[in-house]
Amino acid sequence: MTHAAVSPPRPFALACPDLSAERLGNTGTPGVWHFDTGEPGNKVMLSALIHGNELCGAWALKAFLASGLCPRRGTLTLAFCNLAAFDRFDPSDYLPSRFVDEDLNRVWSPDKLADPTTSERRRAAELRPWVDQADWLMDFHSMSTSDVPLQLTGMHQRNIDLALRLGNPANVIADAGHAAGVRMRDYGRHGAPDDNGTRALLIECGFHGAPESRDVALDQMARFLIEAETLDRADVPSGWLAADASRQQALRVTQAISSPSGRFRFARDWKGLESLAAGTLIGWEDGEPVVAPYDNCVLIMPSVANIRPGVTVLRLAQTIA
Ligand SMILES: [Zn+2]
Repeated sequence: MTHAAVSPPRPFALACPDLSAERLGNTGTPGVWHFDTGEPGNKVMLSALIHGNELCGAWALKAFLASGLCPRRGTLTLAFCNLAAFDRFDPSDYLPSRFVDEDLNRVWSPDKLADPTTSERRRAAELRPWVDQADWLMDFHSMSTSDVPLQLTGMHQRNIDLALRLGNPANVIADAGHAAGVRMRDYGRHGAPDDNGTRALLIECGFHGAPESRDVALDQMARFLIEAETLDRADVPSGWLAADASRQQALRVTQAISSPSGRFRFARDWKGLESLAAGTLIGWEDGEPVVAPYDNCVLIMPSVANIRPGVTVLRLAQTIA
C-alpha cells in the first residue's frame, strides 16, 4: 500500500529554540533540571517536548532558566522530554518529529515502561523518577490545527478546579485520555481518582507553529507556579502573564473517536470548538458516516495529521453544567 505525500497543513512561524545549553540539565538526566529550595512546599514539575515538534513549552522552560528566577518553596523540576525527536525537527516538514519510534505520551503504563524496545520507552524510563516525585505537573503541548488554547484536565475534579482557579485559558476540557496508551499526566499517583494532593494539567497552547503559542506557555507557566506557591506573583517577570480569560467554560469529553482503519476523513475543515446539532455529519470512518450523537456536541481537537490505525482523531464534549 502506498501513501500519498502529506504536506504540512500550515506554515511554521515559531522559531526553533537553541537548546544546546538547556539539554544538559543539572541532574545527570539529560534535559532535566531540578531545584530544591530546602523550604516546605509542593514538588512541581514542568515538562516540554513530550512531542518533539511542540516547541512552545521548550521556549517557556528556556525563558525560566534564562530569567535567573529562584523558586521560593518546595522543589521545581524542568524537563525537556523527547530530545531525540526534537533533534529531527524541520520547520518545512514538522509532523514527523512528533516522535522517533512511538508517541512518548502513550507509554506511561507498567507494561510499556518495563519493555524498553523503543526510543520513547527508554526515555520514559529516564524521566520516570522525576514524574514519580512530582506532586504538581504541568505538561506543555501544542496542536496540529487548532489555534484556541485548551487546558486538558483529565476527569478528576481536583484538576478541573485548578484549571478554573488559574483563570486562563478560556476552555477547560475534562478528558479521559487515549485508547492507544496512558499519558504522562495520567500516570501513577496523578491518575488516582481520590484527591491525594497531586495536580496535573496538560496545556495545549495553540497551533504548533504559531508564535502566540509561546506567549500562552509563558502565561500558563507563571499561573501554575504562582498557584503552586513555587513563586510569588511579584516574582514573575513582566510580559509573562496575559490578561485573564473574560469567561472560562468547562467541557467534559463524552467520547474519543479513534480510527480503527486509519482512513478517517472529516466532512468539513473543522477547527475545533464547533458546537453541532445532533445528527450533523462530522466525517467518515472508512466510508461509514460519523455524526454528532447529541445536541450542543462540541468538537475537540479534530485532526488527521497524525493518523494511523487506532489513533484518536477527535473528541466530543458537552458543557459541564
Ligand atoms: Zn502534544
